[in-house]
Amino acid sequence: MPANLMNGSQLAREIVSRSAVRAAELEAATGVAPCLATVIAGDDPASVTYVRMKENRCRQAGIRSRHVGLPADTTTAALVNVITELSTDPGVHGILVQHPVPAQIDERAAFEAIAPHKDVDGVTMLSFAAMAFGYPAFAGCTPGAIMRLLDAYHVDTSGKHAAVLGRSPILGKPTGMLLLAGDATVTYCHSRTRDLAEIVRTADIVVAAVGKPEFVRGDWIKPGAVVVDAGYNPGDIGDVAYSEALDRASLLTPVPGGVGPMTIAVLLEQTIDAAFAQLGHVSGT
Ligand code: NAP
Repeated sequence: MPANLMNGSQLAREIVSRSAVRAAELEAATGVAPCLATVIAGDDPASVTYVRMKENRCRQAGIRSRHVGLPADTTTAALVNVITELSTDPGVHGILVQHPVPAQIDERAAFEAIAPHKDVDGVTMLSFAAMAFGYPAFAGCTPGAIMRLLDAYHVDTSGKHAAVLGRSPILGKPTGMLLLAGDATVTYCHSRTRDLAEIVRTADIVVAAVGKPEFVRGDWIKPGAVVVDAGYNPGDIGDVAYSEALDRASLLTPVPGGVGPMTIAVLLEQTIDAAFAQLGHVSGT
């Protein structure tokens, strides 16, 4: 039987509508609408498109956007200055620094300039540490999106073997931490992993976050496994060979329409959470 699809687009629409209700409640109660600042250095076309998509979704959810565009030759100091100002601006509740940043910039220094309570993309070391230790923190939006999808489709992670392919700080590593917090037994795979296909064949849950089109082949997938394809490659191609995986998995995320829209939805939700906390408003709904 072909896999059921985890419909990230549908779930994201539901989250955006709920977010719009919450944003309206906050504005009615405090006179202030939630505001997300997006900072982009350079003019990488993919980054510009992502940021535009995020701003459109913000509008739909009643979140104001403040866009800061900096030239491609921006220095680390200039970028850090801008982020520090946004961090202390009471009119801004969440800050997103679009990555990748230009090569001359120290990305870590830029991320660390984000005030933790405005780190709605979960990129600071403090957010990562809090998440890893099980304290309240904003998760990275894509790892958070993956967990929301699993939850929405009633995937019980407890006791399951989860193989996470990729260990980047923004995606693979935190996703493995969140699965571990959900009591999964997690195996991280990366470019030095030996017998990767064999490891995947034993996994009940596979998260592909490698950045290589159709990297995970159908015959690597244990029949009935849950497969989350976080990859996004040119031509709308994921990191999993989709048609092959359809015949093996029980649940599968499509690309596009799986993790991608959910990532933006989680960003909006976390921006609204941040605004509620900063304005000291407790939801009446
Ligand atoms: P990244 O920083 O380039 O990390 C890629 C990871 O894959 C690394 O850990 C790397 O291992 C591993 N890897 C590379 N080649 C491998 C191989 N042959 N075998 C096993 N592992 C290998 O990428 P990323 O930012 O995590 O993104 C990964 C994918 O997710 C990309 O397709 C990206 O577009 C997508 N993405 C999607 C969203 C979304 O919203 N849907 C958000 C972010 C990223 P090493 O650590 O050993 O180098």
